[in-house]
Amino acid sequence: MVRMMETSVIDMTAGIDGTEMARAGRIIREGGLVAFPTETVYGLGANALDEEASAKIYAAKGRPSDNPLIVHICEFSALDKIASQIPEAAVKLADAFWPGPLTMIFPKTEMVPYGTTGGLDTVAVRMPDHPIAQALIEAGGGYIAAPSANTSGRPSPTKAAHVAEDLSGRIDMILDGGAVGIGLESTIVDLTGEYPVILRPGYINQSMLEAVIGKVKMDPGLTADDPNLRPKAPGMKYRHYAPKASLTIVEGEAQAVRRKINELAREEQKAGGMIGIIATQESAADYPIGIVKAAGTRTEELTIAMHLYSILREFDELGVSKIYSEAFDTPQMGQAIMNRLIKAAGHQIITA
Ligand code: AMP
Ligand code: MG
Repeated sequence: MVRMMETSVIDMTAGIDGTEMARAGRIIREGGLVAFPTETVYGLGANALDEEASAKIYAAKGRPSDNPLIVHICEFSALDKIASQIPEAAVKLADAFWPGPLTMIFPKTEMVPYGTTGGLDTVAVRMPDHPIAQALIEAGGGYIAAPSANTSGRPSPTKAAHVAEDLSGRIDMILDGGAVGIGLESTIVDLTGEYPVILRPGYINQSMLEAVIGKVKMDPGLTADDPNLRPKAPGMKYRHYAPKASLTIVEGEAQAVRRKINELAREEQKAGGMIGIIATQESAADYPIGIVKAAGTRTEELTIAMHLYSILREFDELGVSKIYSEAFDTPQMGQAIMNRLIKAAGHQIITA
C-alpha cells in the first residue's frame, strides 16, 4: 500500500533554487522520494544505501521487485564504496563518457542493499550529466537509486508533467528542470564478464564504446524472438513503454513505407477506428488519414529520440485504436530508438 501524500512540484527551469535543493536533499537523506531531471529521462530518486527507501520506489511505481535500480553518483571517487572491483575498462569508459548517459555494472559491496539491486550481487552505476541531478545527488548524500519516474509499464517521462501524471500523490517532490535533452534511457554495459556486453542500447552506441575499449558485444537476449533467450538486464524482459493502442512498425524503403501505412490506415478507418501515425517532418504531409505526429527530423536523430515517449503518451490520451510508426534505423541512435519502439509494439513489425 502506498500512503498518499502531497507532492511538491518545484520549478527549477530558470536555475537551481538552493533552499529548495537543500530541502530535496533532506527528503532523500530521511528516506523519501524525489523525482528529478537527468539528460536521459526523469528519474525517481531515493537513498540507494537505505533498503527501506529503495522499497518505496518499487511501491510508488508498481515496479516488479526483481527489476534492479541504477545508483547515481556525482563524483568518480564515490564508486569505491559501492563497487568491489573496478576494471580498467570502466576507468576508461568513465573518462570518456562520465558524466553522461552510460550505466556500468560492477560487483557490489556490502554497502549496497539487495533491496536496491533486486537481489543481485551486482550494482548498476551512472553519473548523470545534468546540473539538477548532480546537485540533488550531492545534497542527498552521494548515492541516489533512480529508475525512470513513470508508473511501471508506461513510457518513461521526458518532462516533469509526465512524472506528475503518473506519480502525483505518491512521492514527496518533483524537481522540474524542463524537457530532457536525450529522451531515451542510458546505455547499460556489463563489465563483470569476460568481455563487455551492452545490456540496453542508448545514446552511447556500440562503436562509440569500441573506440575506447575495443570489442563490445550486444546481449543476444535483446533482439531474440526466442522467449527462452532472456535479456541479461532484468528490466529488459518486461513489456515496457506499452501504449494503450496496438502499435505496428512498418519498415522498408521510404516511399513503400508511406504507401503501406496509408493502406493500413484506410482499412482501420473503414473499420471505424481512430488512427495515430508516427512520422517525421520529412514525411508527415504524405499521410492524409489519421492524427499524424512528426517525432522529429531524420537529419537530426536526437529530435526523434526526444519526442518518442511523449508522442506515445499523447496517443494514449487521445484514445486512438491503432498506431502505425515508421521505422527509425538512424546512424547513431537507431539501435536504441528501435529497441524501445519494438518493445512498445510488442514486436509487431512488418516490411513494406
Ligand atoms: P530504469 O532506470 O527504469 O531504466 O531501469 C533500470 C534498468 O537497469 C533496468 O532495465 C534494470 O534491469 C537494469 N539494471 C539495473 N541494475 C542492474 C544489474 N545489476 N544488472 C543488470 N541490469 C541492471
Ligand atoms: Mg524504466
